[in-house]
Amino acid sequence: MRPLGPIPDGFEAIDGDLAIDGRTANSLVGDAGDTPLFVYSRTLIAARIARLRSAMPQRLAIHYAVKANSYGALLEFMAAKVDGFDIASGGELAIVAAAGVSAEKVSFAGPGKRDAELEAAIAAGVTINLESLAEAHRALAIAERLGTAPRLAVRVNPDFDLKGSGMKMGGGAKPFGIDAEKVPEVIRTIVKSRAEWRGLHIFAGSQALDAVAIIATQAQTLELAARLADQVGVALPACNLGGGFGIPYFPGDADLDVEAIGSALGESFAALPPLLEGTEFCIELGRWLVGPAGVYLTRIVDRKESHGEVFLVTDGGLHHQLAASGNFGTVVRRNYPVAIASRFGAPVAEEASVVGCLCTPLDRLADKAGFPRGEVGDLVAVFCAGAYGASASPAQFLGQGPAKEMLI
Ligand SMILES: *Cc1c(COP(=O)(O)O)cnc(C)c1O
Repeated sequence: MRPLGPIPDGFEAIDGDLAIDGRTANSLVGDAGDTPLFVYSRTLIAARIARLRSAMPQRLAIHYAVKANSYGALLEFMAAKVDGFDIASGGELAIVAAAGVSAEKVSFAGPGKRDAELEAAIAAGVTINLESLAEAHRALAIAERLGTAPRLAVRVNPDFDLKGSGMKMGGGAKPFGIDAEKVPEVIRTIVKSRAEWRGLHIFAGSQALDAVAIIATQAQTLELAARLADQVGVALPACNLGGGFGIPYFPGDADLDVEAIGSALGESFAALPPLLEGTEFCIELGRWLVGPAGVYLTRIVDRKESHGEVFLVTDGGLHHQLAASGNFGTVVRRNYPVAIASRFGAPVAEEASVVGCLCTPLDRLADKAGFPRGEVGDLVAVFCAGAYGASASPAQFLGQGPAKEMLI
Protein backbone atom coordinates (compact mmCIF):
# COMPACT_ATOMS: atom_id res chain seq x y z
CA MET A 1 0.00 0.00 0.00
CA ARG A 2 1.25 3.48 -0.81
CA PRO A 3 0.93 6.11 1.90
CA LEU A 4 -1.31 9.17 1.59
CA GLY A 5 -0.25 12.73 2.37
CA PRO A 6 -1.09 14.21 5.78
CA ILE A 7 -4.63 15.60 6.16
CA PRO A 8 -4.34 19.25 7.25
CA ASP A 9 -5.60 20.32 10.67
CA GLY A 10 -9.10 21.66 11.13
CA PHE A 11 -11.24 18.82 9.72
CA GLU A 12 -13.45 16.50 11.74
CA ALA A 13 -16.04 13.77 11.28
CA ILE A 14 -19.73 14.34 11.98
CA ASP A 15 -21.70 11.06 11.93
CA GLY A 16 -19.00 9.51 9.78
CA ASP A 17 -19.05 12.30 7.22
CA LEU A 18 -16.16 14.73 6.70
CA ALA A 19 -17.08 18.13 8.15
CA ILE A 20 -15.67 21.48 7.03
CA ASP A 21 -16.49 24.32 9.45
CA GLY A 22 -19.13 22.12 11.03
CA ARG A 23 -20.89 21.38 7.73
CA THR A 24 -20.79 17.87 6.33
CA ALA A 25 -19.48 17.11 2.87
CA ASN A 26 -22.86 15.67 1.90
CA SER A 27 -24.73 18.79 2.97
CA LEU A 28 -22.23 21.06 1.20
CA VAL A 29 -22.66 19.11 -2.03
CA GLY A 30 -26.41 19.31 -1.52
CA ASP A 31 -26.19 23.10 -1.20
CA ALA A 32 -23.93 23.41 -4.24
CA GLY A 33 -26.22 21.16 -6.26
CA ASP A 34 -23.64 18.74 -7.59
CA THR A 35 -20.14 17.36 -7.61
CA PRO A 36 -17.30 17.96 -8.36
CA LEU A 37 -17.06 20.82 -5.89
CA PHE A 38 -14.30 22.90 -4.37
CA VAL A 39 -15.09 24.10 -0.84
CA TYR A 40 -12.93 26.86 0.65
CA SER A 41 -13.23 27.75 4.33
CA ARG A 42 -13.13 31.36 5.52
CA THR A 43 -12.47 30.17 9.07
CA LEU A 44 -9.45 28.13 8.05
CA ILE A 45 -8.00 30.89 5.84
CA ALA A 46 -8.51 33.48 8.57
CA ALA A 47 -6.78 31.24 11.11
CA ARG A 48 -3.76 30.83 8.83
CA ILE A 49 -3.48 34.56 8.23
CA ALA A 50 -3.79 35.26 11.95
CA ARG A 51 -0.99 32.77 12.69
CA LEU A 52 1.20 34.33 10.02
CA ARG A 53 0.57 37.87 11.25
CA SER A 54 1.52 36.96 14.78
CA ALA A 55 4.66 35.15 13.56
CA MET A 56 5.94 37.90 11.26
CA PRO A 57 7.34 41.31 12.19
CA GLN A 58 4.58 43.93 12.13
CA ARG A 59 6.47 45.87 9.50
CA LEU A 60 6.10 43.03 6.99
CA ALA A 61 3.10 43.36 4.69
CA ILE A 62 1.44 40.18 3.48
CA HIS A 63 0.45 39.91 -0.16
CA TYR A 64 -1.61 37.21 -1.82
CA ALA A 65 -0.45 35.69 -5.12
CA VAL A 66 -3.69 35.49 -7.08
CA LYS A 67 -2.63 32.66 -9.35
CA ALA A 68 -2.97 30.19 -6.46
CA ASN A 69 -6.75 30.68 -6.40
CA SER A 70 -8.64 33.42 -8.20
CA TYR A 71 -12.18 32.46 -7.21
CA GLY A 72 -14.09 35.76 -6.93
CA ALA A 73 -15.67 35.26 -3.49
CA LEU A 74 -12.32 34.13 -2.08
CA LEU A 75 -10.58 37.23 -3.48
CA GLU A 76 -13.24 39.48 -1.94
CA PHE A 77 -12.62 37.78 1.39
CA MET A 78 -8.84 38.08 1.00
CA ALA A 79 -9.17 41.79 0.20
CA ALA A 80 -10.15 42.43 3.80
CA LYS A 81 -7.40 40.18 5.17
CA VAL A 82 -4.17 40.86 3.26
CA ASP A 83 -2.25 44.03 2.43
CA GLY A 84 -1.74 43.52 -1.27
CA PHE A 85 -2.27 41.30 -4.29
CA ASP A 86 0.24 40.02 -6.81
CA ILE A 87 -1.07 39.32 -10.27
CA ALA A 88 0.62 37.83 -13.32
CA SER A 89 -1.63 38.74 -16.25
CA GLY A 90 -4.15 41.21 -17.59
CA GLY A 91 -6.78 38.55 -16.92
CA GLU A 92 -5.89 38.50 -13.24
CA LEU A 93 -5.98 42.31 -13.24
CA ALA A 94 -9.59 42.16 -14.42
CA ILE A 95 -10.38 39.49 -11.80
CA VAL A 96 -8.97 41.49 -8.86
CA ALA A 97 -10.67 44.66 -10.11
CA ALA A 98 -13.99 42.79 -10.24
CA ALA A 99 -13.41 41.67 -6.65
CA GLY A 100 -13.12 45.32 -5.63
CA VAL A 101 -9.38 45.37 -4.88
CA SER A 102 -7.96 48.87 -5.23
CA ALA A 103 -5.16 49.24 -7.77
CA GLU A 104 -2.59 50.71 -5.39
CA LYS A 105 -2.60 47.38 -3.54
CA VAL A 106 -1.76 45.42 -6.69
CA SER A 107 1.58 44.55 -8.28
CA PHE A 108 1.98 42.87 -11.64
CA ALA A 109 4.90 40.51 -12.31
CA GLY A 110 5.39 37.91 -15.01
CA PRO A 111 7.21 37.54 -18.30
CA GLY A 112 5.63 38.39 -21.64
CA LYS A 113 3.36 41.25 -20.61
CA ARG A 114 1.66 42.49 -23.77
CA ASP A 115 1.28 46.20 -24.50
CA ALA A 116 -2.46 46.05 -23.84
CA GLU A 117 -1.81 44.45 -20.43
CA LEU A 118 0.81 47.06 -19.55
CA GLU A 119 -1.56 49.79 -20.63
CA ALA A 120 -4.45 48.48 -18.53
CA ALA A 121 -2.17 48.12 -15.50
CA ILE A 122 -0.56 51.57 -15.90
CA ALA A 123 -3.92 53.25 -16.48
CA ALA A 124 -5.26 51.58 -13.31
CA GLY A 125 -2.24 52.59 -11.22
CA VAL A 126 -0.93 49.10 -10.56
CA THR A 127 2.79 48.65 -9.74
CA ILE A 128 4.60 46.85 -12.53
CA ASN A 129 7.45 44.51 -11.65
CA LEU A 130 9.58 44.86 -14.76
CA GLU A 131 11.02 41.67 -16.20
CA SER A 132 13.47 43.22 -18.69
CA LEU A 133 14.96 46.52 -19.85
CA ALA A 134 12.88 46.25 -23.03
CA GLU A 135 9.74 45.93 -20.90
CA ALA A 136 10.83 49.05 -18.96
CA HIS A 137 11.08 51.00 -22.23
CA ARG A 138 7.68 49.74 -23.40
CA ALA A 139 6.07 50.64 -20.06
CA LEU A 140 7.60 54.13 -20.15
CA ALA A 141 6.46 54.71 -23.75
CA ILE A 142 2.91 53.58 -22.93
CA ALA A 143 2.80 55.81 -19.85
CA GLU A 144 4.07 58.75 -21.92
CA ARG A 145 1.26 58.20 -24.41
CA LEU A 146 -1.27 58.00 -21.55
CA GLY A 147 0.23 61.08 -19.91
CA THR A 148 0.65 59.31 -16.54
CA ALA A 149 3.55 58.44 -14.27
CA PRO A 150 3.72 54.62 -14.11
CA ARG A 151 4.58 52.90 -10.85
CA LEU A 152 7.61 50.78 -11.70
CA ALA A 153 9.58 48.23 -9.72
CA VAL A 154 12.28 45.89 -10.93
CA ARG A 155 12.00 42.15 -10.63
CA VAL A 156 15.46 40.79 -9.95
CA ASN A 157 16.65 37.37 -11.06
CA PRO A 158 18.69 36.72 -7.94
CA ASP A 159 22.05 35.01 -8.13
CA PHE A 160 20.85 32.37 -5.62
CA ASP A 161 17.90 30.03 -5.36
CA LEU A 162 15.64 28.83 -2.58
CA LYS A 163 17.11 25.51 -1.40
CA GLY A 164 14.70 22.62 -1.36
CA SER A 165 12.02 24.54 -3.21
CA GLY A 166 9.62 22.65 -5.44
CA MET A 167 9.90 25.22 -8.23
CA LYS A 168 13.10 27.21 -8.57
CA MET A 169 12.53 30.72 -9.80
CA GLY A 170 15.99 32.21 -9.38
CA GLY A 171 19.66 31.35 -9.71
CA GLY A 172 21.17 31.04 -13.19
CA ALA A 173 19.51 31.59 -16.55
CA LYS A 174 15.79 32.28 -16.07
CA PRO A 175 12.96 33.87 -18.04
CA PHE A 176 11.93 35.66 -14.82
CA GLY A 177 13.32 38.98 -13.68
CA ILE A 178 16.44 40.85 -14.68
CA ASP A 179 19.88 39.41 -13.90
CA ALA A 180 21.19 41.12 -10.77
CA GLU A 181 24.18 42.67 -12.55
CA LYS A 182 21.92 44.32 -15.13
CA VAL A 183 19.53 45.75 -12.54
CA PRO A 184 21.39 49.02 -11.72
CA GLU A 185 21.02 50.24 -15.32
CA VAL A 186 17.26 49.59 -15.24
CA ILE A 187 16.90 51.35 -11.88
CA ARG A 188 18.76 54.39 -13.29
CA THR A 189 16.46 54.40 -16.33
CA ILE A 190 13.39 54.43 -14.08
CA VAL A 191 14.72 56.96 -11.59
CA LYS A 192 15.59 59.52 -14.27
CA SER A 193 12.24 59.08 -16.04
CA ARG A 194 8.98 60.59 -14.75
CA ALA A 195 7.94 57.18 -13.42
CA GLU A 196 7.31 56.58 -9.74
CA TRP A 197 10.17 54.34 -8.54
CA ARG A 198 8.68 51.46 -6.50
CA GLY A 199 11.73 49.37 -5.61
CA LEU A 200 12.56 45.71 -6.04
CA HIS A 201 10.84 42.34 -6.32
CA ILE A 202 13.00 39.32 -5.58
CA PHE A 203 11.37 35.89 -5.78
CA ALA A 204 13.63 32.86 -5.44
CA GLY A 205 11.33 29.83 -5.38
CA SER A 206 8.17 28.08 -4.23
CA GLN A 207 6.99 25.26 -1.96
CA ALA A 208 9.86 25.09 0.54
CA LEU A 209 9.16 23.33 3.83
CA ASP A 210 12.55 24.03 5.38
CA ALA A 211 12.48 27.19 7.52
CA VAL A 212 16.28 27.28 7.62
CA ALA A 213 16.40 27.49 3.80
CA ILE A 214 13.80 30.28 3.74
CA ILE A 215 15.64 32.20 6.46
CA ALA A 216 18.89 31.93 4.46
CA THR A 217 17.15 33.05 1.26
CA GLN A 218 15.53 36.03 2.96
CA ALA A 219 18.91 37.08 4.36
CA GLN A 220 20.46 36.81 0.89
CA THR A 221 17.52 38.74 -0.55
CA LEU A 222 18.00 41.60 1.89
CA GLU A 223 21.74 41.66 1.15
CA LEU A 224 21.11 41.73 -2.57
CA ALA A 225 18.53 44.51 -2.23
CA ALA A 226 20.96 46.55 -0.15
CA ARG A 227 23.79 45.98 -2.64
CA LEU A 228 21.66 47.05 -5.61
CA ALA A 229 20.36 50.14 -3.82
CA ASP A 230 23.92 50.99 -2.90
CA GLN A 231 25.23 50.57 -6.46
CA VAL A 232 22.76 53.16 -7.73
CA GLY A 233 22.74 55.25 -4.58
CA VAL A 234 18.94 55.32 -4.26
CA ALA A 235 16.75 54.31 -1.36
CA LEU A 236 14.23 51.53 -1.90
CA PRO A 237 10.65 52.69 -1.36
CA ALA A 238 9.52 49.06 -1.34
CA CYS A 239 10.96 45.58 -1.50
CA ASN A 240 9.00 42.41 -2.17
CA LEU A 241 10.95 39.58 -0.55
CA GLY A 242 9.15 36.85 -2.51
CA GLY A 243 7.66 33.92 -0.69
CA GLY A 244 8.19 30.25 -1.17
CA PHE A 245 6.37 29.12 2.01
CA GLY A 246 5.38 25.52 1.36
CA ILE A 247 2.59 23.34 2.73
CA PRO A 248 2.72 19.59 3.48
CA TYR A 249 1.23 17.65 0.56
CA PHE A 250 2.99 14.31 0.70
CA PRO A 251 3.73 11.51 3.18
CA GLY A 252 6.54 12.64 5.47
CA ASP A 253 6.08 16.37 4.79
CA ALA A 254 6.02 18.48 7.95
CA ASP A 255 4.50 21.89 8.64
CA LEU A 256 6.74 24.90 7.92
CA ASP A 257 8.02 26.71 11.03
CA VAL A 258 6.79 30.20 10.15
CA GLU A 259 7.48 31.39 13.71
CA ALA A 260 11.22 30.75 13.21
CA ILE A 261 11.15 32.62 9.90
CA GLY A 262 9.37 35.57 11.49
CA SER A 263 11.80 35.90 14.34
CA ALA A 264 14.84 35.76 12.01
CA LEU A 265 13.25 38.40 9.78
CA GLY A 266 12.59 40.58 12.81
CA GLU A 267 16.29 40.46 13.63
CA SER A 268 17.21 41.41 10.05
CA PHE A 269 14.77 44.32 10.13
CA ALA A 270 16.42 45.59 13.30
CA ALA A 271 19.76 45.88 11.48
CA LEU A 272 18.91 47.34 8.07
CA PRO A 273 21.41 49.49 6.15
CA PRO A 274 20.47 53.20 5.67
CA LEU A 275 19.05 52.86 2.12
CA LEU A 276 16.60 50.24 3.39
CA GLU A 277 15.60 51.91 6.63
CA GLY A 278 12.41 53.42 5.21
CA THR A 279 11.59 50.53 2.88
CA GLU A 280 8.14 48.93 2.94
CA PHE A 281 8.69 45.18 2.95
CA CYS A 282 6.26 42.49 1.88
CA ILE A 283 6.13 38.80 1.16
CA GLU A 284 3.85 37.27 -1.44
CA LEU A 285 2.28 33.93 -0.67
CA GLY A 286 -0.19 31.82 -2.57
CA ARG A 287 -0.50 28.22 -1.43
CA TRP A 288 0.47 28.79 2.21
CA LEU A 289 -2.49 31.14 2.73
CA VAL A 290 -5.22 29.18 1.02
CA GLY A 291 -4.03 25.68 0.04
CA PRO A 292 -4.90 23.75 3.23
CA ALA A 293 -8.20 25.65 3.57
CA GLY A 294 -9.71 24.02 0.49
CA VAL A 295 -11.17 20.57 -0.18
CA TYR A 296 -12.17 19.08 -3.51
CA LEU A 297 -15.21 16.79 -3.33
CA THR A 298 -15.98 14.28 -6.03
CA ARG A 299 -18.41 11.35 -6.12
CA ILE A 300 -17.67 7.70 -6.83
CA VAL A 301 -19.62 6.71 -9.94
CA ASP A 302 -18.16 3.25 -10.45
CA ARG A 303 -16.32 0.66 -8.42
CA LYS A 304 -14.42 -1.92 -10.39
CA GLU A 305 -11.70 -4.49 -10.12
CA SER A 306 -9.03 -5.16 -12.69
CA HIS A 307 -6.41 -7.86 -12.26
CA GLY A 308 -7.09 -7.88 -8.55
CA GLU A 309 -6.82 -4.11 -8.05
CA VAL A 310 -9.73 -1.95 -6.90
CA PHE A 311 -10.51 1.25 -8.80
CA LEU A 312 -12.85 3.85 -7.39
CA VAL A 313 -13.88 5.87 -10.43
CA THR A 314 -15.03 9.41 -9.62
CA ASP A 315 -16.82 12.18 -11.47
CA GLY A 316 -13.80 14.48 -10.91
CA GLY A 317 -10.19 14.22 -11.89
CA LEU A 318 -7.06 15.88 -13.14
CA HIS A 319 -9.06 18.48 -15.08
CA HIS A 320 -9.63 20.08 -11.64
CA GLN A 321 -6.75 18.52 -9.72
CA LEU A 322 -3.76 18.40 -12.02
CA ALA A 323 -1.41 18.74 -9.06
CA ALA A 324 -2.95 15.88 -7.07
CA SER A 325 -2.63 13.67 -10.15
CA GLY A 326 1.12 14.31 -10.05
CA ASN A 327 1.27 16.19 -13.33
CA PHE A 328 1.96 19.75 -12.14
CA GLY A 329 5.64 20.18 -11.40
CA THR A 330 6.32 16.92 -9.55
CA VAL A 331 9.04 14.51 -10.63
CA VAL A 332 7.91 11.40 -8.75
CA ARG A 333 4.19 10.81 -8.30
CA ARG A 334 3.19 10.66 -4.63
CA ASN A 335 -0.24 10.66 -3.06
CA TYR A 336 -1.90 13.81 -1.84
CA PRO A 337 -4.04 13.60 1.30
CA VAL A 338 -7.20 11.91 0.02
CA ALA A 339 -10.05 10.33 1.99
CA ILE A 340 -13.47 8.82 1.45
CA ALA A 341 -15.39 11.78 2.82
CA SER A 342 -18.59 9.78 3.40
CA ARG A 343 -16.65 7.38 5.67
CA PHE A 344 -14.28 9.88 7.26
CA GLY A 345 -12.29 8.35 10.09
CA ALA A 346 -13.43 4.77 9.35
CA PRO A 347 -10.64 2.17 9.46
CA VAL A 348 -8.73 1.10 6.38
CA ALA A 349 -10.39 -1.95 4.83
CA GLU A 350 -8.74 -2.32 1.44
CA GLU A 351 -6.19 -1.03 -1.02
CA ALA A 352 -7.71 1.04 -3.81
CA SER A 353 -6.81 3.62 -6.42
CA VAL A 354 -9.02 6.67 -6.83
CA VAL A 355 -9.16 7.65 -10.48
CA GLY A 356 -10.91 10.38 -12.39
CA CYS A 357 -13.35 10.23 -15.28
CA LEU A 358 -10.88 11.23 -17.98
CA CYS A 359 -9.84 8.64 -20.51
CA THR A 360 -6.12 8.90 -19.76
CA PRO A 361 -3.90 6.89 -17.41
CA LEU A 362 -2.63 10.20 -15.98
CA ASP A 363 -5.97 10.74 -14.27
CA ARG A 364 -5.28 9.23 -10.85
CA LEU A 365 -6.10 11.07 -7.63
CA ALA A 366 -4.74 8.39 -5.25
CA ASP A 367 -2.60 5.43 -6.16
CA LYS A 368 -2.89 2.07 -4.36
CA ALA A 369 -3.67 3.58 -0.99
CA GLY A 370 -5.52 2.28 2.05
CA PHE A 371 -9.19 3.29 2.39
CA PRO A 372 -12.39 2.13 4.04
CA ARG A 373 -14.41 0.26 1.42
CA GLY A 374 -15.70 2.92 -0.98
CA GLU A 375 -19.04 2.39 -2.69
CA VAL A 376 -20.77 4.04 -5.62
CA GLY A 377 -22.35 7.27 -4.36
CA ASP A 378 -19.69 7.94 -1.72
CA LEU A 379 -17.88 11.25 -1.75
CA VAL A 380 -14.09 11.42 -2.02
CA ALA A 381 -12.19 14.39 -0.57
CA VAL A 382 -8.88 15.62 -1.93
CA PHE A 383 -7.28 17.95 0.63
CA CYS A 384 -4.83 20.82 0.04
CA ALA A 385 -7.14 21.81 -2.80
CA GLY A 386 -7.38 25.51 -1.97
CA ALA A 387 -4.43 26.45 -4.19
CA TYR A 388 -3.50 25.41 -7.73
CA GLY A 389 -6.65 23.33 -8.08
CA ALA A 390 -9.24 25.11 -10.19
CA SER A 391 -6.77 27.82 -11.20
CA ALA A 392 -4.10 25.43 -12.48
CA SER A 393 -5.97 22.55 -14.10
CA PRO A 394 -7.16 22.00 -17.69
CA ALA A 395 -10.90 22.25 -16.99
CA GLN A 396 -11.85 22.01 -20.68
CA PHE A 397 -9.96 18.76 -21.26
CA LEU A 398 -12.35 16.16 -22.70
CA GLY A 399 -15.14 18.69 -22.60
CA GLN A 400 -15.63 18.23 -18.86
CA GLY A 401 -15.80 21.89 -17.84
CA PRO A 402 -15.04 23.52 -14.49
CA ALA A 403 -15.97 22.26 -11.03
CA LYS A 404 -18.34 24.19 -8.79
CA GLU A 405 -16.67 26.39 -6.19
CA MET A 406 -17.97 27.55 -2.83
CA LEU A 407 -16.59 29.75 -0.05
CA ILE A 408 -18.10 28.94 3.32
C1 LIG B 1 3.59 31.64 -8.11
C2 LIG B 1 4.19 32.81 -7.48
C3 LIG B 1 3.94 33.09 -6.13
C4 LIG B 1 3.11 32.20 -5.26
O1 LIG B 1 3.74 30.99 -5.01
P1 LIG B 1 3.19 30.02 -3.86
O2 LIG B 1 4.10 28.84 -3.93
O3 LIG B 1 1.79 29.69 -4.18
O4 LIG B 1 3.29 30.75 -2.58
C5 LIG B 1 4.47 34.23 -5.60
N1 LIG B 1 5.21 35.06 -6.35
C6 LIG B 1 5.49 34.83 -7.65
C7 LIG B 1 6.32 35.78 -8.42
C8 LIG B 1 5.00 33.69 -8.26
O5 LIG B 1 5.29 33.44 -9.54
